[in-house]
Amino acid sequence: MFCPLITYYNRVLGLSPVMDFQQQESKELHEELREKMKKRKFPLKDKRLSGFKPMDAHLMYSERLNVLGRPDLLLKSEGEVIPVDFKFMRSRRGKAWPDHRAQIGLYALLIEDVYDTVVRRGFIYYALEERAVEVKVTPPLRRWVLSILREIREMDESQEPPKTWRNPESCSGGCGYRHVCV
Ligand code: SF4
Repeated sequence: MFCPLITYYNRVLGLSPVMDFQQQESKELHEELREKMKKRKFPLKDKRLSGFKPMDAHLMYSERLNVLGRPDLLLKSEGEVIPVDFKFMRSRRGKAWPDHRAQIGLYALLIEDVYDTVVRRGFIYYALEERAVEVKVTPPLRRWVLSILREIREMDESQEPPKTWRNPESCSGGCGYRHVCV
């Protein structure tokens, strides 16, 4: 979602991102905070989630989608499973950012395959605002996520670099692939 070329470099060419010191430090801080948040079981205090209990969010794999993933938190009540992801940033004026919506949509498809259930919604917890934003798993969201997966599969098959809306010549990077991107 940030840039399709990242997926190409990583997945098709098998290149690992190169982080500068600042990026590495912020990644480690992010991981540390994520672990803390998981232990505090946020956002269970949220009234919209009363009655939900955390489940063990292990790594899940769907053969149908050929996708591997693990949300930060999985919540369960009678008849409903909800994925939750933590972001150490602000929401988009009270709403989830598009890439975060896609992430919830993908988790929903994955959970449905693995747990044989229906996922109707997920949450993104924006830690800087202490705000849990609900993302409804609608048919358009499902279709959008499936179309992204299809594009990735096509890229795998063709081995061709995808089109990007960024200009690689002037892009400032921040993705770990600035050194190979021309
Ligand atoms: S440097 Fe810019 S254009 Fe190249 S992969 Fe990274 S984000 Fe995409």
